Amino acid sequence: MKIKNVNASQTPLYRDAGFNLKNSELTQETFAKELNHEHEPEHYIYGRYRNPTTVAVEKQLMALEESEWALLVETGMAAIDIAVSIFQEGKDARPGLFFHEIYGGTNSFIDTVLIKRRNMDVHRFYATNGLYNFTELERMLNEIRPGFLYFEAVSNPMLIVADVNKIMKLAKKYETKIIVDNTFGTPYLWKPLLDGADLVIHSATKYLSGHGNLTAGVICGNDKKLMQDAIEYRKWTGHFLSPDDAYRLGTQLKSFELRFKQHCHNALELATFLNSHPEIEYVLYPGLESHPTRREAVSLFGDKGFGGVVTFDIKGTTNEEKREKCNRFVAALENDIPLVPTLGEADTILLPVEPVWGAKYPLPGVIRLSVGIENVDKLKKLIGDALDRLMS
Ligand code: PLP
Repeated sequence: MKIKNVNASQTPLYRDAGFNLKNSELTQETFAKELNHEHEPEHYIYGRYRNPTTVAVEKQLMALEESEWALLVETGMAAIDIAVSIFQEGKDARPGLFFHEIYGGTNSFIDTVLIKRRNMDVHRFYATNGLYNFTELERMLNEIRPGFLYFEAVSNPMLIVADVNKIMKLAKKYETKIIVDNTFGTPYLWKPLLDGADLVIHSATKYLSGHGNLTAGVICGNDKKLMQDAIEYRKWTGHFLSPDDAYRLGTQLKSFELRFKQHCHNALELATFLNSHPEIEYVLYPGLESHPTRREAVSLFGDKGFGGVVTFDIKGTTNEEKREKCNRFVAALENDIPLVPTLGEADTILLPVEPVWGAKYPLPGVIRLSVGIENVDKLKKLIGDALDRLMS
């Protein structure tokens, strides 16, 4: 049933599985045009191809990342799948080179999908003692000649900030496309496409949606051919974000910049507070003078902030003592700062590193804190009280 004269002021939520194509002529014309894979079609066809609510939210994301196009998908992993897969055409596809300091799920995707199932030629670039050796990166680029280089500007959970200008220059020299996972940095701190990246992906589950109430991913770029390939891949693999989730993401995106500013503010306050607490061994936060990649962070982010995640180590003379104290700290905060394995929510949440990363980071006292946007004095009091109790 059609409703007349609504004059809606908000983006409408269209839930159509299929759209009304009226007659054979329009159907034929629309299907023919569909082969061009435009971002915003003249006529919508089917909910897996495109949706007007989703396109409206994609335009919000284009404004944020300053990109020519953005495509929404159901998770960050789906965005990664698209970004990587569109370079895989036929058996002559060039290898892929991935930084190893990336989200653990991406490393599992590389192992279990790209290598195990697709037999893709994949190479990894490792950090040495938490830092990148660019002579080694250049050697690998020269030797492997990868089709793309994939990295995160801020690594998880150790928060290494990459010298992205060096990485971009090297990748361009060897005609390698650049894919950046900008989930931790967010477009508030850095817009990789403006610095020469070819594709940017996000887990919009995190800061972009920001309330821990949906999963979503986005892939952004400027190149039209890459967009057409990405739309085609999304359509035939069914990686589509539902219009309901797109609608909610669109609403929550309106407060993204305000939220992220507050995440950065609170995180710096808490990092500074933790840094001087007697129960803390060390704090990793790129905004602290002591952070090994503070110089890179300042040169990339300027004075905008240093992100919303703080990683810290609880003191202890043995691993057993650290583990036991870490467990007590988590239990003390159970009701106020819960252990939730995600990040980027309005509420502060935490994650002990060892039980998740295992052998990669066997650090029994280390906690990753995803700092929310609450009153920071209340957060300091909660965390301070929980740490003080460790001493008694
Ligand atoms: N990239 C980063 C940096 C992440 O932290 C995550 C998830 O934690 C992802 C990608 C995957 O996103 P999603 O969980 O939305 O699939």
